[in-house]
Amino acid sequence: MRVDILTLFPEMFEAVLDSSIIGRAKDKGILELNYIQIRDFAYNKHRQVDDYPYGGGTGMVMQPEPIYLAYQSVCQGLDYKPKTIYLSPQGKPFRQGTAKKLAREEHLVLICGHYEGVDQRILDEIVDMEISLGDFVLTGGELAAMAVVDATARLIPGVLKSEESFSEESHFSGLLEYPQYTRPEEWRGRRVPEILLSGHHKNIEAWKREMSIRTTLKKRRGMLSKAPLSEKEKIFVEELKKNENL
Ligand code: SAM
Repeated sequence: MRVDILTLFPEMFEAVLDSSIIGRAKDKGILELNYIQIRDFAYNKHRQVDDYPYGGGTGMVMQPEPIYLAYQSVCQGLDYKPKTIYLSPQGKPFRQGTAKKLAREEHLVLICGHYEGVDQRILDEIVDMEISLGDFVLTGGELAAMAVVDATARLIPGVLKSEESFSEESHFSGLLEYPQYTRPEEWRGRRVPEILLSGHHKNIEAWKREMSIRTTLKKRRGMLSKAPLSEKEKIFVEELKKNENL
């Protein structure tokens, strides 16, 4: 997958996305990440990219032309339109399902706004989708773009060691993950559940599934109505709810 990120702060990305798992995916050639400085496409004396809003109001608005020229530079030579996303507090909330869909794309362009945001006309001209990291306002789209790239890239085949690494994780299958434990067996008087030490694979899998359901019920009850549960599991959930025995 190729991802082009249009930003006024390309240096912010290197520290985060060029290390660890995503950095390795880049090194392996599974992922191509390009950070494009929008200011390089501002051809005025002071390389200014923003201006006062028409109609008044506080702050500055990013002008459409430098963003458009930066976008054209990444589209050069392509015979298709890459999926173009503007990170925005007004966008659709980003979810695991969004990451799954984006992971199937060949090429993404992410546009990071700053200041009061971007001129509406650039959105109308090139943007296919607006994504929000949540119902809060960030200073710029950079942190949101990093989260989108990180969550999406780890779902591309070959980025993680095995698909199991994410298919059991929270949100992937509509449930939260079961609790995780590592060495030592006992830490400050707290023991790892005996079943995990038993070596009995089938019982361990059943325990993980039950704990996933219990955890989801305890922390994000609303998710359970959409979770893919068997009839037996639905009865189990109803029992738990009655007893509030989580
Ligand atoms: N004036 C804009 C509004 O009220 O909708 C907010 C502008 S915000 C200060 C600056 C930039 O940060 C936005 O252009 C957007 O790219 C990014 N941003 C802010 N909050 C975000 C969020 N929750 N999700 C994704 N991007 C966000």
